[in-house]
Amino acid sequence: MNAFRQNIPDKTFETLNQQGGFSRLAVSPGIINKHYTPAQFQKIAEIVGEKGAIKYSASYSILLSIPSSELTEATRALQEAGLFVASSGPHIVMKACDFCDGEKMEAVPQTEQLYQALDGITVPVRMRVNVNGCASACYNPTYDDIGLVYQHESFDVYLGAIPMGTKAQAGTLFAKRVGIDHIEDFLLQIIRLYQDQARSNEPFYKFYRRTKSNADWELVKKSIE
Ligand code: SF4
Repeated sequence: MNAFRQNIPDKTFETLNQQGGFSRLAVSPGIINKHYTPAQFQKIAEIVGEKGAIKYSASYSILLSIPSSELTEATRALQEAGLFVASSGPHIVMKACDFCDGEKMEAVPQTEQLYQALDGITVPVRMRVNVNGCASACYNPTYDDIGLVYQHESFDVYLGAIPMGTKAQAGTLFAKRVGIDHIEDFLLQIIRLYQDQARSNEPFYKFYRRTKSNADWELVKKSIE
């Protein structure tokens, strides 16, 4: 029973939110790297201290609840410890598999390039782009807004996933074998459609499912022919 009733923390994100004055940070060792060092864990513990809370999330990151007044200083200290602090708000957020703990690095240059080009772009509702380095797709890219699966100098692109909830559903294959030289422009076209045509607060999967028979999507597909 220790995993249940005897293991409920005094301070949860919920209780701290009710108390007010706390902000949330999503921290990870990197977009690809999933290993923390002991020094990084020590830094996290030091920053959160007795006041805040730490929990793991489903998005490959650890969430920290810290006093809002300490946000800037905490972000700086975490970054100095080599940790990646995800931006909050309605932006594109990049995710990736661990590329077999760095053993299968073929798609890493493209992943990095996509990160530089896309991460942080403002969109109507926060949107995740998940890159996996081979067809094993172990980090579930088809369950993110845009799923990319690398194969032979190209990416298969999946769209329309409902990431969570009782109606959760994988996305469907939108385009096969988009070459590495075209993938950035291809994704930017998709993002522009979403920015220009989405309704207020419309998540990407709703937007895609509502508009996918429009000619604009065919034009995006044709851009790689
Ligand atoms: S998706 Fe492929 S490259 Fe990525 S961790 Fe899994 S097996 Fe390795």
